[in-house]
Amino acid sequence: MSKIIASAAIRGAHKIFRRAEESYKEAIERFGPDQEVGFPNTAYYLPIIYAITGIAISKLGEMRKVLDLCAKMIPPPVREKVALPYLAPALDAGMATFFAEEMIEAIRYLDNSCTYLANSEDVDLAAYGASMNGTKAGLWLGAANDVIFRKRGVEFVDGTAPGFAAIVGAAPDSETAQKIALELQEKNLYVFMCGENGGKRFSEQLVEAGVQIGWPTRLVPFGPDISQAVFAIGFACRVAMAFGGIKPGDFRRNLIYNKDRTYAFVLALGDVTDEWYANAAGAINWGFPTIADTPIPEVLPTGICTYEHVVSNVPHNQIVQKAIETRGLKVQVAKVPIPVSYGPAFEGERVRGEDIFLEMGGGRTVAVEWTTSKRMEEIEDGRVEVIGPDVADVAPGTRLHFAMVAEVAGRNFQEDFEPILERQNHHLINQAQGIMHIGQRDIAWIRISKAAVEKGFTLTHIGKIIHAKYHQDFGAIFDKVQIKIYTEEADVRQVLGLARASYEHRDARIEGMTDEDVDTFYSCILCQSFAPNHVCIVSPERTGLCGAYNWLDCRASNEINPDGPNQPVKKGECTDERYGQFEGCNDYIRKASRQNVQSVSLYSLMVDPMTTCGCCECIAAVLPMCNAIMTVDRDFTDMTPCGMKFTSLAGSVGGGAQTPGFLGHSKYNIAQRKFLKGDGGLLRIAWMPKRLKDEMYERIKKRGEELGCPNLPEMIADETVATTEEQVLEYITEKGHPCLGMEDLF
Ligand code: SF4
Ligand code: ZN
Repeated sequence: MSKIIASAAIRGAHKIFRRAEESYKEAIERFGPDQEVGFPNTAYYLPIIYAITGIAISKLGEMRKVLDLCAKMIPPPVREKVALPYLAPALDAGMATFFAEEMIEAIRYLDNSCTYLANSEDVDLAAYGASMNGTKAGLWLGAANDVIFRKRGVEFVDGTAPGFAAIVGAAPDSETAQKIALELQEKNLYVFMCGENGGKRFSEQLVEAGVQIGWPTRLVPFGPDISQAVFAIGFACRVAMAFGGIKPGDFRRNLIYNKDRTYAFVLALGDVTDEWYANAAGAINWGFPTIADTPIPEVLPTGICTYEHVVSNVPHNQIVQKAIETRGLKVQVAKVPIPVSYGPAFEGERVRGEDIFLEMGGGRTVAVEWTTSKRMEEIEDGRVEVIGPDVADVAPGTRLHFAMVAEVAGRNFQEDFEPILERQNHHLINQAQGIMHIGQRDIAWIRISKAAVEKGFTLTHIGKIIHAKYHQDFGAIFDKVQIKIYTEEADVRQVLGLARASYEHRDARIEGMTDEDVDTFYSCILCQSFAPNHVCIVSPERTGLCGAYNWLDCRASNEINPDGPNQPVKKGECTDERYGQFEGCNDYIRKASRQNVQSVSLYSLMVDPMTTCGCCECIAAVLPMCNAIMTVDRDFTDMTPCGMKFTSLAGSVGGGAQTPGFLGHSKYNIAQRKFLKGDGGLLRIAWMPKRLKDEMYERIKKRGEELGCPNLPEMIADETVATTEEQVLEYITEKGHPCLGMEDLF
């Protein structure tokens, strides 16, 4: 701990201790040692003292032994600049501070030197505050009685409230106070207020701004002085005893319980006095850090608190975010904040023809989605920006380009998690009523219906969905996400370039790994909401047909969410090497497809091909006359030599059924070594769209060389030389394509 803070905390502890001694002396003289003391209607006595020491104070005279204990706990005052090498002396001083303050507060209840409102839930503090007209009396609630405590405390346990912010002091003005309070409320935190700064108090500022305060709004004005911080800490101690089953006096477990489960922190607003330091030091015992708006010395090294202990000089517009990060609190977004209904029920719904207000992607415009990681300080959680025209700026039936960049940061975030989050966009966006989402990466396709637009849906809401749902479903792996949506073509193309480089980088990680290297493949059933029997088996040499999940991604996804859509599948015995059939895979497939699929080949489209769902990047189909196979990607919208366009191919095979002769696959898979191995491999491919061939040129060429056919890309026909099967046959015959010499497909 910073030496300066340690000495200030110890000085503060001495001051508060002296005050406690004085109050005690006066009270004894006035009331005598047998006078009953305590907080109203509670079975927890003075709860911090009770929780930490096990001492149940019910009579004034019993305070003596705790005062003596405090005297032992507070180290002798240190002069500024004297080194104090350990955190421990300041922590003890902080703990003694809380003991002393609890006794001061209990005596106040005796002599009525602070007037508290009736300790009831229903007091309308806003009305009260307004009529108060500047007078200070009676805004304060004091310690929560056991009725309130049980009702509110259970919310700390069942997750309704992750914790609390103890606000000490006051904001520079009531508008800032209002903003900070709102931000904390949005995070479902309780706000416990005490202390003053420059004659102002945070709770009074809220009343001034017309904010409703009191237990029902979670904005709780405990009292006007710093010593009422004990009502907040005491609340946490009671939660551990009442709901955590922790015995009074078991201080270690009480502190650990709160450190692990109560997401609390102190926001120190204003000049930090010695007394404030002492309270901050006390809070560190429970793992509650202090975030200050003034430039006090920081205590950055981590130890007791999850991260830093004291962070200072934080601007008001960042203070809540900073506190949340420092405390390691995971943001909960309870409801997806959009003007249309949201849920799995709307996932399969289509938006067609006349209903379309706005369309993006689907081959006619560019639509790309990219989730990428950034440094913590670069991200403002929840920020959504739309750069370019939005719904309000266009006429019904418009097509726009679209690029969505989700920038994610987290103390525990790994680059490997990017594709996993990104792949969720599809079903997350689809769950909004009146919004249709197909595809992923650079083949996304979004339609927004007129009905949704009428209800007020805009592109911003797509970002809101991503923010809310990433937090809900994947909060464990990241802390912050901000979303940028671009709709001007130039911007979109720029994102496209960056995203593609990143996709390539992700794809290449799997390069060189073989199916023989591992004994476990992974399943993916993420697409079962659309194609109920569809199961992808993802092996190192067969990436998922959406192109967005390879074996490494599935493995990472399974680590994050062991019960999730990606399960390890033991290969088991290989029953057919040529087609790639494995006993373990087949056992799994039967179960996961509810007996609809009995066995699959990993390496064939002719024999037991894998099922195909609607997100495949490409679909391969047999060209019987050529004794060959063609493949077409989603971006190619013209007729293909098999007599079907991509859309009709997807329509007929993309529902999750096994369709021999057809197979959905990813682009990357085309040049993976096991691609269609059972059917002759890459050498069997006789046609593909020119753009796809160009995109894959280097990899196809390299793979062709490995297979003894260095000119393979030139031998594969495309739409510039052949649009019918006859023309394909003519072309490949002329080029001497290797498929002509292969065994018959049928
Ligand atoms: Fe998973 Fe396959 Fe759907 Fe991709 S296509 S998300 S790998 S089930
Ligand atoms: Zn799918």
